Amino acid sequence: MSDTTAEHEANTEELERRVYLGLREDNLDPQDVVALACELFGWLPCTDAVLEVVERKPADVSPAEMTALARRILDDVGFDPGFDLAPERLETLRAALRIMARDLPTRGIQGEPQIEILEDCFPAGAGVRLADGERLDWGGHILPGMCDDPTMALTSLAIMIQESLLERTWRVWPVCPRHDLGVHGSKREGTAVWWCAGDGGHMLAPIGELSHALADR
Ligand SMILES: [Zn+2]
Repeated sequence: MSDTTAEHEANTEELERRVYLGLREDNLDPQDVVALACELFGWLPCTDAVLEVVERKPADVSPAEMTALARRILDDVGFDPGFDLAPERLETLRAALRIMARDLPTRGIQGEPQIEILEDCFPAGAGVRLADGERLDWGGHILPGMCDDPTMALTSLAIMIQESLLERTWRVWPVCPRHDLGVHGSKREGTAVWWCAGDGGHMLAPIGELSHALADR
């Protein structure tokens, strides 16, 4: 190995991105997988998938096998495509924010909030910018990996917004009118809800439906 660490990291990242895009767009180039495996070989604790790609002749590996091996290698290295290579995650997050935004007027917040990509952190995460210009990203921003699943995206967003608002004003929101307890964003039975710990725990409202729950009481 004559690579410096910096070269190795740059090569690896470039190859990981190519392999990811090849899998995603269904035009995987076996040579990219071989090049990635060779780049990883000897640098990390060697995984079975890396070893298999390095040792076998590419011509003997069927496309289906190569696809499976490429997926395993990306898993092994913990590759995350971020928002830039998986832009559908941003769409999922924006859709989640539109749902979450329906609850904000109950906290006296008006206007349309926006998702803001935070390039100044790594990996690039996302925060929320309220219509009045306030940025909410306290307690950790939203990571791209949280946005593969709409319910996870909505729950993560609700928790981040709630904690950011609490940090700013020390006013608990939302509050369960029945128990006078602060409720928390939570994923329950596959749904993103505002969850109250009172009386053994109950749902106050699905996230996005808070105004109805508060108006009914
Ligand atoms: Zn309650």
